[in-house]
Amino acid sequence: MTKEIRTVEFVVLPVTRTKAKKMFQIAGACRYVWNHFREKNLADYQAFRNGKGQRPQTTYFSLGVEFTKLRGETDWLRELPANPIKHTLKYFADALKEAMTGKKGFPKPKSRRRTAPGFTLPSTGQFRIEKRSRKYSLLRIQGVGWVTLSRGGGNPWEDGTPRQAVLRHDGHRWRAFVSYEVRVEKKPDDGEILGVDMNVRQVATSDGHFYHLPDLKKKEARLKRYQRKMERQVKGSNRRKDTKRKLARVSREIADVRNNWTHETTKEISGKCGTVAVEALKVKNMTASAKGTVENPRKNVRQKSGLNRVMLDTALGKVRRNLEYKCGRLIEVNPAYTSQTCSQCGHTDKENRKTQARFQCVNCGFVSNADTNAAINIRRLGMAQLHVEERSGSRQTPASREIDTRLHNG
Ligand SMILES: [Zn+2]
Repeated sequence: MTKEIRTVEFVVLPVTRTKAKKMFQIAGACRYVWNHFREKNLADYQAFRNGKGQRPQTTYFSLGVEFTKLRGETDWLRELPANPIKHTLKYFADALKEAMTGKKGFPKPKSRRRTAPGFTLPSTGQFRIEKRSRKYSLLRIQGVGWVTLSRGGGNPWEDGTPRQAVLRHDGHRWRAFVSYEVRVEKKPDDGEILGVDMNVRQVATSDGHFYHLPDLKKKEARLKRYQRKMERQVKGSNRRKDTKRKLARVSREIADVRNNWTHETTKEISGKCGTVAVEALKVKNMTASAKGTVENPRKNVRQKSGLNRVMLDTALGKVRRNLEYKCGRLIEVNPAYTSQTCSQCGHTDKENRKTQARFQCVNCGFVSNADTNAAINIRRLGMAQLHVEERSGSRQTPASREIDTRLHNG
């Protein structure tokens, strides 16, 4: 049992107009405070950078003292709850620290146009959650009152201890991201490994299961239509604004479907096995230009081009990250030849791959789904890798014993 933080996303349902206004006011105050202290610290920072001044001693604590003073002098600020607004300065102090190390530049101003309105309720003193039904909960925000939270699939971590809540407006509606401290029980490391093959159509596991990617063709077509439409429309016109809203909505829908699918899939996979093996990321492939390389001009143009490909890579990257934290261990194997090698006899041949979906070994005649075959290969490579790791150090697990037996039997 380990304690971990899990964040649950809710939609905040239309609250009364006064409450909505209050939420925007708090978010606006956060932006104001950020910009106010940014301006106050900018000159000192620049002087220090140019070697003319002393190293600024600004910390979250010193900012907090100044914030209290500012709040005492500003009527409209005093009418809003202090904690979420003050918490902005935590983010600012962190950004300032990064700038001091030279890793990043001085924090940028938060513009009304480009910053999504939002604020953080840093501790349970500022909010309370009460469950009403599977789908609905109530959230009490200090200084605002009760609002309704909705989440179609229910709250998977309702038994956890809420620690922090982030409210953010995505241009369409408010969303709440509630972080729970939860106790998770990871699958014990019993030496078993599940091989996972990911590609454009589906995620396949070495036990013969498939997780098909959700069909988003219609939504993606709509997305493209709106993008083209927006390009034609006059900047600043009401029609363009309308298209922009529609575009944002369909992007969100696509992201939601993908996210849900990722969570469901990785939850199921991690429930099967404590250790999974995946292909190491083909970084070169993923960043390869759509125009192809010098040696290989325009070879991958079709599959690499376009927004879909980018979004898909992002989605599969998410699957990988989710597996990493949900499973006990993630092993990365060299992806070379996993799709051309027979998982039964080990014969490697381009001809083994009859079609995208079908694998038929020219040596032993083994027939399988091509992705399942790849997943089994990935599992075998994962086990070999685990074996090497264990040889160079620790105890024997059933997996390494199995490899021993295999090696022994030829
Ligand atoms: Zn074979």
